[in-house]
Amino acid sequence: MAKLTFVGTGDAFGSGGRMNTCLFVETPDLVFAIDFGATSLAALNALELDHGEIDLILLTHFHGDHAAGIPGMLLDSMVARKRTRPLTIAGPPGVEAHLAKVMSAFFPGSEKMAPRFPLTWHEIAIQAPQDVMGLRVTTYPAAHPPETMPTSMRIETPRGKVIAFTGDSAWTEHMPDLAAGSDVFISECYFHAKPVPNHMNYPALRENRDRLKTKRLILTHMGPEMLAMAANVPEETAYDGMVIEI
Ligand SMILES: [Zn+2]
Ligand SMILES: [Zn+2]
Repeated sequence: MAKLTFVGTGDAFGSGGRMNTCLFVETPDLVFAIDFGATSLAALNALELDHGEIDLILLTHFHGDHAAGIPGMLLDSMVARKRTRPLTIAGPPGVEAHLAKVMSAFFPGSEKMAPRFPLTWHEIAIQAPQDVMGLRVTTYPAAHPPETMPTSMRIETPRGKVIAFTGDSAWTEHMPDLAAGSDVFISECYFHAKPVPNHMNYPALRENRDRLKTKRLILTHMGPEMLAMAANVPEETAYDGMVIEI
């Protein structure tokens, strides 16, 4: 059993008043977050979820709406919360160096602070299934600006539940492998009709729907045009605070 809370289901720009991407996943073995965008601390607080319980944060790529909440979370953990629980942050190659730059840009001087809790960085090699704190994590190249080191991510929990997440990506030929046998496939769906580079649009998802062998498909990361159509599509669409169990 795993409980997934959609902490943030918005795009990068707060469309529809939604928060940036963050999923909070509670399992009997560990608590982890997938992505941690700029507004994720506020979103977690609004849902009365405690970032101090997170053992692991997995990052799909380096855009601010997916990773820019980390500096505030680390600073809060060090200064206000006096965290002692170990934390691991895992992401694409270069994750530690990238977040160090973001940390000093957001909170100049913070780079001199050393956490008093064990903080571990884990680089996830692309398309190389690996163990991350008992999770089986496989990432695939995503179709998104390469500077962000974009990945789609498949996560199998220690008890065999599978979460597949496109991250930010246009359709790729890896999506069927990402989805195969998953308990939930969470797909970004930025536009409803407009063809756009670097993001999934709804027609591409519909066209390939039968190739996604998943128990449950949920759309997220919707821009204004897709949000306006969300009630009219047959697929399940996520909203901030939505909770599912797999
Ligand atoms: Zn995004
Ligand atoms: Zn992005």
